[in-house]
Amino acid sequence: MIIHMAPGATPDETQRVIDRIMRDYALRCETIVSDTTVIGVKGVTSIVDEARISELPGVDRVIRITVKYKDASRAFHGEDTIINVGGVPIGGQHLTIFGGPCAIETEAQALASARLAKDAGVDILRAFVDKSRTSPYDYRGLALDRGLEIARAMKDETGLPIVSELIDLRHLDAFLSAGVDIIQIGARSAQYSPLLEELSRIDVPVVLKHGFGNDMSEWLCAAAYIMSGLDREGRTVGRGNKNVILCYRGIKSFESETRFAADVSMIPLVRQRSHLPLLADPSHSSGDKKLVERVTYGFVAAGANGVEFDIHSNPAEALCDGKQAVGGGEAGRIVRFAREIHSMLTGVGYETGTAFPVAAK
Ligand code: PEP
Ligand code: MN
Repeated sequence: MIIHMAPGATPDETQRVIDRIMRDYALRCETIVSDTTVIGVKGVTSIVDEARISELPGVDRVIRITVKYKDASRAFHGEDTIINVGGVPIGGQHLTIFGGPCAIETEAQALASARLAKDAGVDILRAFVDKSRTSPYDYRGLALDRGLEIARAMKDETGLPIVSELIDLRHLDAFLSAGVDIIQIGARSAQYSPLLEELSRIDVPVVLKHGFGNDMSEWLCAAAYIMSGLDREGRTVGRGNKNVILCYRGIKSFESETRFAADVSMIPLVRQRSHLPLLADPSHSSGDKKLVERVTYGFVAAGANGVEFDIHSNPAEALCDGKQAVGGGEAGRIVRFAREIHSMLTGVGYETGTAFPVAAK
């Protein structure tokens, strides 16, 4: 539920509304002040008597949000969320490039790939220790301690913040102690609520992949699990983790020539429906290094706040996903052109019907 205060409503009037909601319904409020004041009410808002709140002094209107992914919804939070990771902004008008090897295999491979990624101009480095693979016979990563040691070395060597996929709740503390800056939740875990709930108790940024069998609402509901801080009874038990970054990677379809079907129209749609930063993954969606470059440009032109793609020092010998990884030279070109496309389109709205002039070059 959101309560719009009238233009000119006083801080006292706003406070009275918040006090009333908290006293009568034990619900939490968040206030956003821009031209006018907007109060977001969280929890089981069906118990709120809308008419009584509408009558309070200073209230302009009360709107019930019907989407199920409230915290992730733009209706609940109008401004773009911008997340800062070690000085790197993600979201809003920024384009943030995530890249690096699909998996850590050896120290030499990980460090060589990390250097290539850094030289290519990526902002956030992939340092993946745990891999959730479809077949148990595929490469699933090194032993946890060794993998994290190498992840740390990748971070120290490049000075870049690192992102790593968490598939096991028991590994969370070790990830954080090793200096992992961003936790990624992979497509296979995208709706696993115990993992999502655990991440709501910390404020470390989370990249949430789109589950390959989920629609948009299910994906954004998964984000809301991390963000809401509500327990099963709808009680507020924590602040929730607001630092969620979405990452689109397509869904399963009958097309066998690409790995997953990535619908480029999802990019402006999700930007309209959610305030969260939105990345897209051209490697895991296309599954083919020959497609990664152009798919990247498509995502960026469509309004993604960044991309995450696989960069490997020797893709032909990679133990994991070498087919979709690009080498250093190509990665550098992708980053350069992606930034050019992004700057050319700065100021072009992602909402249908808004026509901002293209910035003159
Ligand atoms: C990955 O990013 O390494 C990965 C496994 O992606 P996804 O979860 O989208 O399959
Ligand atoms: Mn992969």
